[in-house]
Amino acid sequence: MKILVTGGAGFIGSNVSDALVKDGHEVTVLDNLSTGKEENINPEVKFYNVDLLDIESLELVFREFKPDVVNHHAAQIDVRKSVEDPAFDAETNIIGSINLFELSINYGVRRIIFSSTGGALYGEPEKLPATEDTPIEPLSPYGVAKYCAENYLNYFKRLYELRDRHASLRSAHDDGGERISEHRDRHASLRSAHDDGGERISEHRDRHASLRSAHDDGGERISEHQDRHASLRSAHDDKEERSVGIERVILRYANVYGPRQDPLGEAGVVAIFAGKILKGEKPVIFGDGNQTRDYIYVEDVVKANVLALEGKEGIYNIGTGRETSVNELIEIFSKVLGREIKPEYAPPRIGEVHRISLDGEKAKSELGFVPKYSLPEGILKTIEWYKGK
Ligand code: NAD
Repeated sequence: MKILVTGGAGFIGSNVSDALVKDGHEVTVLDNLSTGKEENINPEVKFYNVDLLDIESLELVFREFKPDVVNHHAAQIDVRKSVEDPAFDAETNIIGSINLFELSINYGVRRIIFSSTGGALYGEPEKLPATEDTPIEPLSPYGVAKYCAENYLNYFKRLYELRDRHASLRSAHDDGGERISEHRDRHASLRSAHDDGGERISEHRDRHASLRSAHDDGGERISEHQDRHASLRSAHDDKEERSVGIERVILRYANVYGPRQDPLGEAGVVAIFAGKILKGEKPVIFGDGNQTRDYIYVEDVVKANVLALEGKEGIYNIGTGRETSVNELIEIFSKVLGREIKPEYAPPRIGEVHRISLDGEKAKSELGFVPKYSLPEGILKTIEWYKGK
């Protein structure tokens, strides 16, 4: 399969592209290297240093690579940055995504897999773990933008369904044309019977007149139909030949952690803690440390992306269903490292939810996705990776 991975120089996208290459897919990575790193890019993929907002360069990637699947990971991922500068966040996460979805449609992409967020979408749910039906109440512009991009993707899918309906309307119209010519033949043979004359002439004339009026009505209806059909055809002609429908899988991730997450970044508490702890510094907890997250190891998220290539279309939470507080996270680090880690506390930050965990039942029953790594296992693997850098 030909797969375009956007954000393939970043933390999750690069791990996903490694797995896709390993499975024998032809992978191309698109990334503007704003937070991604060239060293993360799998050496076997073709790389385009392109920004999602640079529509001409973006189109060139589609023209040259012609992907079957687009796996969309490129994004502005910093929740705090989104609070400080919502327009900047929206440009990448909404406009950039729209650019990508439109080109996917125009270039006949079969499926789009979109990395959304479960952690920043449901606000503070009354019931945890949050299911896909939990009300959407984002507390940050990042969550709003991700949900907006989800909606655009759903809209583009509906657009395709309308186009398919148009195709079936056209075939109905072609059938209608055949029925009219049958009608015309019958009319002609009636006229020849009428020309033969005889006693039934006047009776025949009446019937003929009424048939002619029926035929004229039919003709008008057909020409109306033809006009509608012509205008529908001209609206879609340029795109129609290249595409037959689009599928979409939306993956709403919990808090992803693991190798290649930026320990110097503003997001990703496991990476930030690991970076500080390995440098002998104290990790900083914002708030009282009782805020909870659902932490999922990146290899599990990679698995979800692999399953999403062929699995049932839909919207799926990708989480473990378990809540872990930041204080508990520090305890796990202490256990894994075999020494006590003492954090520092700082005032809480806005835009971040207090408690969240994601129900993964739908992903389990419909995609066959079950996370494999426990938090201590994943943290151990992550620390080993940072040590080996
Ligand atoms: P990341 O910052 O490591 O990766 C994002 C990549 O996108 C980077 O390589 C960056 O250079 C690239 N990028 C950013 N803006 C771009 C633009 N305008 N054009 C082209 N490339 C651009 O972040 P990540 O943690 O790997 O996140 C990947 C995806 O997963 C994102 O869509 C994010 O919203 C989603 N997600 C991540 C988490 C998490 O816990 N890390 C949770 C939920 C959802």
